Amino acid sequence: MVENFPGFPEGVDGFELMQRMQQQAEKFGARVKLATVEAVDLSRPPYTLTVDGETVQTQTIILASGASHRHLGLESEAKLEKKGVTYCATCDGALPAFRNQPLVVVGGGDSACEEALYLTRFASVVYLVHRRDQLRASRIMAERTLAHAKIKPVWDSVVTDILDVKQDKVTAVRLRNVKTGAPAELACAGVFIAIGHVPNTELFRGALDLDENGYVILQRRSATRVPGVFVAGGLCGSRVPPGGDGGGHGVRRGD
Ligand SMILES: Cc1cc2nc3c(=O)[nH]c(=O)nc-3n(C[C@H](O)[C@H](O)[C@H](O)COP(=O)(O)OP(=O)(O)OC[C@H]3O[C@@H](n4cnc5c(N)ncnc54)[C@H](O)[C@@H]3O)c2cc1C
Repeated sequence: MVENFPGFPEGVDGFELMQRMQQQAEKFGARVKLATVEAVDLSRPPYTLTVDGETVQTQTIILASGASHRHLGLESEAKLEKKGVTYCATCDGALPAFRNQPLVVVGGGDSACEEALYLTRFASVVYLVHRRDQLRASRIMAERTLAHAKIKPVWDSVVTDILDVKQDKVTAVRLRNVKTGAPAELACAGVFIAIGHVPNTELFRGALDLDENGYVILQRRSATRVPGVFVAGGLCGSRVPPGGDGGGHGVRRGD
């Protein structure tokens, strides 16, 4: 449910909202093609996109490829994805496999706190594994999280492995204390990874200005430095360079 979209006081189902937007755009002549953009050439107009092997040329593009969840980068994480490893508590938290079980949330920001608090509805205990000795989340979120009886912080620790690939399900995480180097193991039925997002901008690297986190730097409102190329949504950078007309009016990351 999307709770904050203008015009829907009761909230609106995200999928329905998306379909309505598509219908509205089609009413005004948009043609929708579900395909993957494999390459872009923004060196000169008309710009060239390779879309499922076909070439499409255009004078104007709005890039809106969004951002993906950041991964820990462990082999076991990839092998156990959707088998106990997940990146979204609201999507997966209520699954039977997680009910009344110990769960692990990895991260220390607002998202990790939100995930941990949400999971207290289902879990027997939620371990919040964070690489530092205090949360990076806003004060109110951090206080609410740490005050919850079901949430147990595990400080100064990183996940080094997720078990058990042989059983094809999550049974535990292996940890390393970053200060002492001491290893540890925590039994759990699920691992919720909330360590941020990575913008889907690899295709545009070199063609557009990206900030140190890979978000597109905007020149003026939604315009990039390439004439006719605009960005929207989750891949917009949070910064506008000096002289740019961000105006402080919400030219920020979409998440
Ligand atoms: C659980 C959850 C709850 C949320 N709740 C809210 C909420 O209540 N209110 C709110 O405002 N926000 C909410 N958000 C955030 C919101 O979902 C994002 O801000 C928003 O989806 C960003 O939109 P986007 O179009 O930029 O990116 P996305 O929605 O990520 O869409 C990007 C699209 O581009 C496609 N794509 C990527 N690369 C290519 C390519 N090479 N070729 C073709 N297609 C490609 C992707 O497949 C995807 O369909 C929530 C997010 C999550 C995960």
